Amino acid sequence: MNVHRPTHQALKALAVAIVLACTGTAAAADADYAPVTDARLKAAGTDNGWLMYRRDYTSRGYAPFKTISTKNVANLKPAWDWKSPLDMGHEAPPIVNGDYLFVTTPKNHLIAFQASTGKQLWTYEHDLSNVGLKTICCDVVNRGVALYGDKVYMATLDNRVVALDAKTGKVAWNEQLNAPDVGYAMTLAPLVVKGKVIVGVSGGEYGARGFVEALDANTGKQVWKLHTIPLPGEPGGDTWPKGAAETGGGAAWLTGSYDADTDTLFWGVGNPGPWLATLRPGDNLYTDSVIAVNPADGKIKWHYQYTPNDTWDYDGTNETVLTDITYQGKKYKAIVSASRNGWFYAIDRTNGKLIYAEKFASATSVSGFKDGKPVTDPEMRPTVDKEVFTCPSFLGGKNWWPISVSPDTHMAYVPTLHTCMTMKGAAVSYKAGLPFLGETFLVKRDPAFPNHWGSVQAIDLNTGKQAWTFPSELPWNGGMLTTAGGLLFSGSADGYLYAFDAKTGKVLWKSPQMASGVLGVPSTWTVNGKQYVGVFAGWGGGVPIWGGEMAKDPKVRNIPLGGHLYVFSL
Ligand code: CA
Repeated sequence: MNVHRPTHQALKALAVAIVLACTGTAAAADADYAPVTDARLKAAGTDNGWLMYRRDYTSRGYAPFKTISTKNVANLKPAWDWKSPLDMGHEAPPIVNGDYLFVTTPKNHLIAFQASTGKQLWTYEHDLSNVGLKTICCDVVNRGVALYGDKVYMATLDNRVVALDAKTGKVAWNEQLNAPDVGYAMTLAPLVVKGKVIVGVSGGEYGARGFVEALDANTGKQVWKLHTIPLPGEPGGDTWPKGAAETGGGAAWLTGSYDADTDTLFWGVGNPGPWLATLRPGDNLYTDSVIAVNPADGKIKWHYQYTPNDTWDYDGTNETVLTDITYQGKKYKAIVSASRNGWFYAIDRTNGKLIYAEKFASATSVSGFKDGKPVTDPEMRPTVDKEVFTCPSFLGGKNWWPISVSPDTHMAYVPTLHTCMTMKGAAVSYKAGLPFLGETFLVKRDPAFPNHWGSVQAIDLNTGKQAWTFPSELPWNGGMLTTAGGLLFSGSADGYLYAFDAKTGKVLWKSPQMASGVLGVPSTWTVNGKQYVGVFAGWGGGVPIWGGEMAKDPKVRNIPLGGHLYVFSL
């Protein structure tokens, strides 16, 4: 019998091959993390991954992928999943670059996975042990990361922005924006524009004077800081009574959008403080507004105010989405926003003028429009002597859960809440770090929707009118995702990810039962041509804390808690 012994030469070749294979693998892993450049961010809409909070600067939440489509979505199956060690609201979308996926959980944990397999790569747990979390109004949530260069960025509950090496999780810088415990916190996903990490603060319920701040992406040093409430003598400062601006609120707690063509940043500004408006007569700029900002220096170009002299906590932070529309035969470069106050706005993004506003929920506080400006109903304004019943509730016709806009259907998809409220004025005085409201309130059913706390609505962008609706007994608090496959994805409070036919609203697929209700924002990406859809389940956020009669509804109260990330593919 002939035994073929490996020759010395063959063994040496094998050893070389093994060494090459090993270094090759290491080199491939290193090369795998493609730096996120300005050019890639500008073209993020066509990237294979999901590079920022709402996918691209338009904030449409729309992906051009069509491997998963209306024709085959019924075959969508679980690919991998990950159980979070935390309960509370899990709100972040998976952010994906190449085969790297990043999510955040409540309390600022940041976890990196292999996007295709779910293999855990590294975890960063932000140290909150020395921080009082009492001035965080609405659960200890986080809405995800931003990517730039070789770094990943997270804004934290203790008012820091942390930059980490995307491959290793090693901290590159960790910058404090404001002293903690006076009402400031951060829960939003940062937005990176031309080398600046841009964030905004929460704190509108504590009289914290809001701001948007830009940090140098490499060093974390402040580039500019834009206070959302002007002081006396500044433009808009005369819309406040003497001494009120310093505690005027105007938090900026959601991610903005960006128009590269006009180099303009759009950022939503929250409610004035205190909530009770009789204490601060005037329009109270720039609360409840969208501000158009020069990203180079943080200067305001124009603003549009959704709710003047807000007394209902309607905020104005809901995202603005860039889209072109044709209204009454005329073409516009628009931004659209489904405001907490129950009106769907289309605004000319070149000059801030109102194109149209249509109700998408029962809306009695803002009753109409005059010369492009909202008109509020004095009868719906509470005082210390007068209780009102008005719609929507302060939770809004829509809260922070982002809408999606599909260029294929030319519709906006709005996670809608059907609630009203009673509200009455109360005595209040400012004390740093304590709630600054001056009102009592209770969320109630909207009489127009006796059986439904929520719905998914499609709105025709050219008219502002409803195209279809999918009613839900439970509130609908999931973010929206649309794709070129003709699909709309969104998660429900009873723990399913739905795929709708974006054109008709027909349910084409429903995931297996997930561990908890969904507040999270779905995203989609491809690795080696294979398309994935991911979403966090994990009930929490503001609704269970502030939801009044809705939160007490046994169907809502019994929604199980527990964060869990699910990824699906064909
Ligand atoms: Ca608020």
